[in-house]
Amino acid sequence: MSAPDRGAFDREQHLVHGLAWVATYAETLREVRDWAQALTAAGKFGETEQLLARLLIGEYTAQLAGGLPMTQVESIRPADFGVEAPPVSAPATQAEKNRLAVLLRQAAGRATLEQTGLDEDFELIRDQFRKFADAEVAPHAHEWHLKDELIPIAIVEQMGALGVFGLTIPEEFGGSGLGKTAMCVVSEELSRGYIGVGSLGTRSEIAAELILTGGTDAQKSYWLPKIASAEILPTAVFTEPNTGSDLGALRTRAAKEGEDYIVTGNKTWITHAARADVMTLLVRTNPDTNNFSGLSMLLAEKPRGDDANPFPAEGMSGGEIEVLGYRGMKEYEIGFDGFKVPAGNLLGGVEGQGFKQLMATFESARIQTAARAVGVAQCALELGLKYAIERKQFGQEIFSFPRVANKLVMIAAEIMASRQIAYFAARRKDSGKRCDLEAGMAKLLAARVAWAAADNALQIHGGNGFALEYPISRVLCDARILNIFEGAGEIQAHVIGRRLLEDGRN
Ligand SMILES: Cc1cc2nc3c(=O)[nH]c(=O)nc-3n(C[C@H](O)[C@H](O)[C@H](O)COP(=O)(O)OP(=O)(O)OC[C@H]3O[C@@H](n4cnc5c(N)ncnc54)[C@H](O)[C@@H]3O)c2cc1C
Repeated sequence: MSAPDRGAFDREQHLVHGLAWVATYAETLREVRDWAQALTAAGKFGETEQLLARLLIGEYTAQLAGGLPMTQVESIRPADFGVEAPPVSAPATQAEKNRLAVLLRQAAGRATLEQTGLDEDFELIRDQFRKFADAEVAPHAHEWHLKDELIPIAIVEQMGALGVFGLTIPEEFGGSGLGKTAMCVVSEELSRGYIGVGSLGTRSEIAAELILTGGTDAQKSYWLPKIASAEILPTAVFTEPNTGSDLGALRTRAAKEGEDYIVTGNKTWITHAARADVMTLLVRTNPDTNNFSGLSMLLAEKPRGDDANPFPAEGMSGGEIEVLGYRGMKEYEIGFDGFKVPAGNLLGGVEGQGFKQLMATFESARIQTAARAVGVAQCALELGLKYAIERKQFGQEIFSFPRVANKLVMIAAEIMASRQIAYFAARRKDSGKRCDLEAGMAKLLAARVAWAAADNALQIHGGNGFALEYPISRVLCDARILNIFEGAGEIQAHVIGRRLLEDGRN
């Protein structure tokens, strides 16, 4: 049977993406089941965990049968596929939700973290980074956001000392040699403190992965120890003004002249670009192509800039893009006009490999983004719970009203589920198995969960949630980005749906 053409996948996006969402729910339910079974076997499936699982399974199976919201305005239903609704698990009762609310309150919102199913070693790592985030990050995050400032370099240095930037880099190259599960735990806890801090390591992770999977031995020995120690900060330079999701079509040109590449073109949305020391720069080295095949990755060094002069390098200019949230590293547009990169800085030493090299990093980047989303959602849950307990209306805590507490318990259940699917993808990655599908599913779900958590925690804050003074206003803006970068939700669903259909044929 021949593969459906691209046009068919595009025309039928509602179904293709719907299939991706259905499969994501199925995988999530499987992971929640496996988590429950493992905890049961260990005698740790307590009342909180049972109620979280029951709430999640009841709600998700009901959505599978009655309509699954891919976004707030698009649902996928069994009738869309011409099939009958699947069986639904009995939904959690109001009494069960009330009980879960009591348990959530007792654990100050951390009920979702009591039994993550991870080994003790990971929980020790969590503990270390939770303490760091609580002491050094959370108390300042809102001020950094409101002032729209770069995260202080002292924080970056402390994170370097804690090993954040070399977490998954092998020990022989100066890293800690830990796996993606550890990366999830660290990203989650730092992002719970502030997404900007949880994302500081993202660029190092991408650069390290690019160099580890695509670099020459000399490039590995030169760059990786410097990235691991935070001696150099990388930035990821891929997107262009006319090329976002369709990255293979990018146009920034790198022409070989003698011992250098001469780069000309425009990039945009480049996070942390001014303060970075090296760019992983995706360029077109073969001008006779207009697709991914002519792309190459350069490891392009640049001097650090500042607010007054973000790009003090010959052949490079640009400026800041002001943004709603996800501040702390700042976003930039960059123009290259005759910017020189030594030819020896071509990743892997062979032209035309850039897109393939980048794709090899997508799995890790998506797992990390899922973990960041879990952290943001956990932050929203804790802020929402605290406010619901403090705020009195009609003579009582608003937490005592079911419509308020129900939101919080469902947020908690979805956090538990997205955490499990993120850990599942990380474990697969750590075991050396292909996991683009699982990583995509984790990112797809967790980004929606983070947005729902932030939106509903803000709703619980009433008018105060709309005041800049309240941290939940920041968390709402921060949560919004998670469904746009590292593969927008629609692109993620397209990739998952397409792969499921293509694999299903084989
Ligand atoms: C805060 C922030 C930080 C970023 N950091 C970086 C960075 O450090 N480095 C970097 O290189 N880039 C970065 N990006 C860019 C980011 O990766 C892109 O914004 C993202 O890939 C989407 O591209 P786009 O904005 O051009 O949107 P488009 O590709 O124009 O998409 C617009 C909308 O159309 C939808 N769409 C597009 N194609 C399809 C399709 N085939 N089917 C269905 N729907 C479709 C998308 O899902 C989206 O909803 C950042 C962006 C932001 C906002």
